[in-house]
Parts: sequence; C-alpha cells; structure tokens
Amino acid sequence: MTITTPLVDQLQVDLFIDGQWTASSSEKRFRVENPATLETLAYVADGTPDDAQRAIEAAGAAQASWGRTSPRFRADILRKAYEIVLSRAEELAAIMTSEMGKPLAEAKGEIAYGAEFLRWFSEEAARIDGDTTTSVDGANRILVTKEPVGPSILVTPWNFPLAMGTRKIGTAIAAGCTMVFKPAELTPLTSLALAAILKEAGLPDGVLNVVPTSSASSVVSVWMNSGIARKVSFTGSTEVGKILLRQAAENVLRSSMELGGNAPFIVLRDADLDRAVEGAIVAKMRNMGEACTAANRIYVHREIADEFSRRFAERMDALVVGDGARPGTQVGPLIDQDGLDKVQQLVNDAVSRGAKVLTGGFRPEGPGYFYKPTVLVDVPADAEISRTEIFGPVAPITVFDTEDEVIRMANDTEWGLVGYVFTQDLDKAARFSASLEVGMVGVNTGIVSNPAAPFGGVKQSGLGREGGRVGIDEFLEYKYTAIPVP
Ligand code: ADP
Repeated sequence: MTITTPLVDQLQVDLFIDGQWTASSSEKRFRVENPATLETLAYVADGTPDDAQRAIEAAGAAQASWGRTSPRFRADILRKAYEIVLSRAEELAAIMTSEMGKPLAEAKGEIAYGAEFLRWFSEEAARIDGDTTTSVDGANRILVTKEPVGPSILVTPWNFPLAMGTRKIGTAIAAGCTMVFKPAELTPLTSLALAAILKEAGLPDGVLNVVPTSSASSVVSVWMNSGIARKVSFTGSTEVGKILLRQAAENVLRSSMELGGNAPFIVLRDADLDRAVEGAIVAKMRNMGEACTAANRIYVHREIADEFSRRFAERMDALVVGDGARPGTQVGPLIDQDGLDKVQQLVNDAVSRGAKVLTGGFRPEGPGYFYKPTVLVDVPADAEISRTEIFGPVAPITVFDTEDEVIRMANDTEWGLVGYVFTQDLDKAARFSASLEVGMVGVNTGIVSNPAAPFGGVKQSGLGREGGRVGIDEFLEYKYTAIPVP
C-alpha cells in the first residue's frame, strides 16, 4: 500500500472480498488523484477478472444464509452503520473532497444524505410486506410473499461517492441480497471506507464484496455472465447503461438503471425571481454541475429574461472557485481533464453559433481541473450544449414566449430524469408537472433528491426507482403460493 497523504492514512485500499482485505491477483494498483491539486492520494488494488470471479462466488455462497436472516438483524446492521458514518462525518468528508473535489461543506452534506439511506433502509427492512387474496374461482388462497432477488451487481459513478453507494447497498442489505460492488475508479476511497464501516457494523462476510478496478468492463462483464448474479443496479451514463442492459438481456438479469439527465429549468413569468435565481444556483451548481439532476437547460419567459439572467450571472460570478478543502470554497474542480475539456468545448461550440457569454467561459490559471462558473444567453437550439448533459458549471439560458412552446422544448430530448418549474400559480405548477416527460419534478425548488422519495427517470434516463417506499422492490422478487381453500 502506498499512501502519500495523511488524510487517507488509515484507509484500506485493497479489494474487499468475503470479509477480507486482499491484494489484486495481478498485484497491480491504480492511482487515485486529487483533482484540485493533482497530488496522488493512494494506489488502490486493481481488481482483475479473477478477483471478480472470487467476489461473485463469495456473494453467491453467502446468499442463502444472508437471505434467511431476520429483518431486525439486517436493520440493526444498517442502523449501526448509519451511526458510524455520522460519527466519522468529518473524516469521510475529507476523503470525499480529496478524491472528488467537491467543497467540504458539500461533502458533509453528502455524508448526511448518504447516511440517511442507511437509516431509511434500516427502517424499510422491517416493513417488507406481502399480500393475500383469493383465486377468481374461489378454489385457492393466493399468498404473495417477497424474497431477496439474490446476488446483485452494483456499479456506481464518481459524482456522489458515498450516496450512490449507500442508496444501492442499503437497499440490498435491507432486502437480504448479497452484493458485488464496483465503485468508480476515480473515487474508490469513500467506497472502501464505507465497506470498512459496514464490516465494523457487523455485516457478515461475503455479503458485500468490493472490487475497485481500472478496467471496469472486464470486471463487471465477469459478474454479468457469471450465472450467479440475479440483478444489476447501475448509476452512470446512458451509454454504459445500454452496454449493461445488453449483457443483462443475455443473462436475463433484473435491471435498475439510473442514467443521464438533461433537466429543463423553467422560470415562468409570474415566478418569484429571488427564489428562481437561488433555485437555479442550487440546481446548476450543486456538485459543480456534475449531477444527473443538474439544471442543464434554463428556459426563462421573455418578459423577465434580462432581469433573471443579470441576477443569476451576478450570483454565478461571485461564487468562490478553489480547492474544496479550503474554507470558503463554493465551487471545486471538475473531476478530470476530460470533464474540463468537454465543458470548454461545449462553450466554444455555443459561442461559435452565436451564444453570448454573460460571465465565465474560461478556466482559471494554475493546477487543478477548475472552470469558472459560466452563464450563456442566446443559445441556439442547434448548439451541442442544448442536446448534451453538460456535467459542469455552465448554464445556457434560452428565452421562451408561450407555455406550450417551453413544454415542447423541455420534452425535446431522449432523457427524462427531472424538470424544475418556478411559478406562483398552483394550476400552472400542476400543468407543468403533468406535461413534463420526467420521473421527478421540482416546483419552486432546485433539489429533489431525498431518501424518502422515489428517485429515477423515464425515457433514456433509466429504469426503476431508488429510495422511497418502492426502492426496496427493486431488490425483491414476488413469490405466490396457492393454498386450496378447505
Ligand atoms: P460517468 O460518465 O459518470 O463516469 P460512466 O457510465 O462512464 O459514467 O461510469 C459509471 C460507472 O460505470 C463507473 O463505475 C465506471 O467504471 C463503470 N463503467 C464504465 N464502463 C463500463 C463498462 N463497459 N462496463 C461496466 N461498467 C462500466
């Protein structure tokens, strides 16, 4: 183990298989860097297909006994893990900021949010219910029970290193499923810290197996084709989601997919402008814009467009950009050079097609993948930025005249995760909620994520829901038993 920063000094950076920390079968390691300073944080064990095989076998072997544990046993482990995560919030936030870049205050927010899934699913574990009815001919009682779907493959992205893990792991634990888990290669450290916490909380060996790797497709395809896995739960790009859905089809695996978004953020003429500006800042800038729920296209009614744009641009311009570990930072770096290049290229393309830069449009001097918060106006519909998930601190504003026009523009995308609408008119809010082709709607709010809510999208934004009352169903199968009526 090579550790070069005291922050992660105590952290295990090996694979976690069958309850043990083990090196990769190749003995190779991959580098994890701090995107603000470009320093090396750790060299993490680089999982191979052989390691993947060991992990899925461990999950397969543990399933029968784990699936028979009592709901209260599983709930208590989740509750304990929740308490440990909160007690180490400072430490975990420091690890998260160092590997992902988000400001410490946001990292702490994510620790609280991510921990909440452990608490929520500790409560859900004890509430798995069933159903009973009578066959239509009256001959049989129909008893419907729910069982764990079985060994599950979990694959997560780098943007919410804790919450994307707990949202899947918490659910699978509550449902009684064992797991193989591949965190994103850019941010494996928070996930490894979470695995250590779950072990400390009493999770039996083999229930959770974590295989970080620099070769995602080779590890995950071993799992998909293993014949042991019964389910895949993925959060990431639509492109990779489609690859996994093809593999899931080959193996008939249950699939939950949280994929990309292209969220419209709509400000109607009667909106409270203060709330709309603040909502736009939150919806755009949470996580430096690196969120699938980020406001991707801002539509403002013509009569208020100049005023909204001016005030929003002033707020964007005043945001403090810097190393997330430094107090007072509001905007950290992007995750890597590719993320930075993509954002700059989208801005250049929009400007070349006639968009105007109100603020930003460049990267600051110095190391780190920083980009200045940017507001673009007069963005033409054919600009690439209108059709792409930006994943960065750039806000394109488009003016609209009628409600029908903005609904048509908002729905003119293959994605459908979330939409935001700002209005003081309840009827209009209801009309937009009904008309937007999305899985989630924020009315006068820029944040929709919550453990109690069913998170997920329609169209190419995904399949299934995470969290809420329905989240646990993604990891459960129905079984029906017919019993003759005496
Ligand atoms: P993002 O754009 O957010 O990085 P990705 O879809 O590329 O989204 O990555 C999300 C997760 O999917 C990461 O853990 C990544 O390693 C993993 N991944 C990427 N390519 C594949 C693949 N071909 N098969 C399985 N997992 C993959």
